[in-house]
Amino acid sequence: VRVGFGFDVHALVSGRHLILGGVNIPHTRGLEGHSDGDVALHAIADALLGATGLGDIGTHFPSSDPSIKGISSLDLLRRSASILDDALWQIENVDVTIVTECPVLAPHISRMRQHVADALSINVTQVNVKATTTDGLGFTGRNEGIAAYAIASVKEATP
Ligand SMILES: [Zn+2]
Repeated sequence: VRVGFGFDVHALVSGRHLILGGVNIPHTRGLEGHSDGDVALHAIADALLGATGLGDIGTHFPSSDPSIKGISSLDLLRRSASILDDALWQIENVDVTIVTECPVLAPHISRMRQHVADALSINVTQVNVKATTTDGLGFTGRNEGIAAYAIASVKEATP
């Protein structure tokens, strides 16, 4: 059994949809990025790739690649899962914390869990999604961006 950690930040800008955990959340601004800017899914993908020693999403899906411009991060997560699958790793669980002052994410958490579980082909009970604020402190507190921290545990797949 191995564990991996992932961290990501994207800036909040106007003129973009806010996509978190694969859910389109009504908000005045969205996350900047080459893809849809979904920090939660990027952190999860990095945790999974980190646990297995398979690098990070920047290596597998570089922002210089025009074919992934505007891509759904659920797609990136699915592709990350298949990289793990090909290397004979099985996902045990993932846990992610999204750090943002607003909007309130509580109403969207269960859908995020389901989206992540579906993208990774695991059970929803193997996925945990949490949200917190920084009490107005720092760049997340000033609503300049959203951060996400994720941890994942994997084990060798039984052949
Ligand atoms: Zn990212």
